[in-house]
Amino acid sequence: MKKKRILILGGGISGLSAAYALVEKGEYEVTLLEASDHIGGLLGTRQHGEFLFEQTARTYVRGRSASLLKLIGSLNLEERLIFSQKSAKKRYLWTGKKLEQIDHPRFLLPLVPDLMAEWFKKPNETLQDETIADFTLRRFGNKVLERLIDPMVLGIYAGKSEELSIQACFPRFKEWETRYGSCLRGLWKERRGFKNSSLFSFQGGVQVLIDSLQGALKSQIQLNEQVHALHVTQKGVTVETQERVFHADYLISALPTDVIGRLFSPLDPSISQRLLSIATQSVTLVHLGYKSLSVPVEGFGYLVPSSLQENLLGTLFDSSIFPQQNLKPDQRRLTLILRHGTVAQATDALYRHLKITELPDCTVTASYQIPQYHLGHLDRILALRQELSEKFPQIHLLGNYLEGVSVNDCVAGAFNLTEKLNLEAEHNFL
Ligand SMILES: Cc1cc2nc3c(=O)[nH]c(=O)nc-3n(C[C@H](O)[C@H](O)[C@H](O)COP(=O)(O)OP(=O)(O)OC[C@H]3O[C@@H](n4cnc5c(N)ncnc54)[C@H](O)[C@@H]3O)c2cc1C
Repeated sequence: MKKKRILILGGGISGLSAAYALVEKGEYEVTLLEASDHIGGLLGTRQHGEFLFEQTARTYVRGRSASLLKLIGSLNLEERLIFSQKSAKKRYLWTGKKLEQIDHPRFLLPLVPDLMAEWFKKPNETLQDETIADFTLRRFGNKVLERLIDPMVLGIYAGKSEELSIQACFPRFKEWETRYGSCLRGLWKERRGFKNSSLFSFQGGVQVLIDSLQGALKSQIQLNEQVHALHVTQKGVTVETQERVFHADYLISALPTDVIGRLFSPLDPSISQRLLSIATQSVTLVHLGYKSLSVPVEGFGYLVPSSLQENLLGTLFDSSIFPQQNLKPDQRRLTLILRHGTVAQATDALYRHLKITELPDCTVTASYQIPQYHLGHLDRILALRQELSEKFPQIHLLGNYLEGVSVNDCVAGAFNLTEKLNLEAEHNFL
């Protein structure tokens, strides 16, 4: 019997993982369309002179990367994995005057009464979703919000804890409250799961993973194919790019939310509106490379709380986390995450916070979008999925705007979907 054709739009990690899992199983004829001249999307490692920089993602938590590790294993890339230095466990907060080490007793001691009180606080079972700020204030109080949670939210989402959803951004906290009556109790009961909090990457950066996927999907990937129209017919789906038209029985969109939202606009304004209403936040990354530099602290990096209203959200000490990725032993690589801005603003922040006066030997600046999971996000995604499956059962969605922004979440989403599709194909439900 002739295999059903499936089109995947977007060659970021979501689309690539879906294509890989479908090709491995062999139930479908797979084609992946990518607008640019390379795959990887947000993910990629670039060499600038004698410095290596990750475009966006750089660390993956071992204990929370089951799907990503499965993909890595299946591509035989385990030998390329590297693990972060012990000193990368040290994380800091800029308090306006100095850097304080977050896991140091001096930092934690003033928070202990609020943390311990949470153990005994009654859970609020009636509330559904809450903002991260409301949840933290209710459970822990203002100090924990300002000094721990708010900077963490900025570091991951570049967003506001008064707007983002606790259920969508930190589902475990909410789950622990519901299941064990307290977050601390949940943390204690499930402490074994946190043993493996080491960070990993690849010797040579995440590009190793992308290149390996490219090798495995050579005949499926079509580069320089920017999709600009989508049609649904009784026979399946048709997709138009600048020069070509592609037909298929099924379609998986792994495009950013604004792109797939616009493609749906002439097809179904309601679905289009649901997609376009998912907000994103722009951040600017400034990578700085120094041939040599003395940095006063070693560790993962530091965060800046939103109450200080700085343009800088945080700084990552790339060469401290993974010195194995240094192309020259003595060099220093730093990445500064800014709301927006320039190299001058980044070096100014470094001077104010770390008294670094040396000018970098290499600078790279780029901006990216991070999806914002606002209050009620998961309900909105459920409604979007329901409407889509009723109206267009041949179209499926993947991407970091749905149920998790991490690379592991993207791979997990792709694996879950492809498992479902493979099962359906095997049993001839399609
Ligand atoms: C600054 C930053 C730091 C991060 N750090 C981490 C981290 O340390 N660890 C972690 O786990 N995660 C991290 N993430 C998150 C993670 O990198 C992303 O969520 C993930 O890579 C998103 O992958 P994706 O495939 O869903 O989307 P994308 O990577 O955005 O892929 C979408 C693809 O669609 C293509 N496309 C767009 N329009 C069209 C079109 N019209 N036709 C065809 N193709 C099109 C794009 O070119 C792109 O290749 C970070 C993200 C950012 C922004």
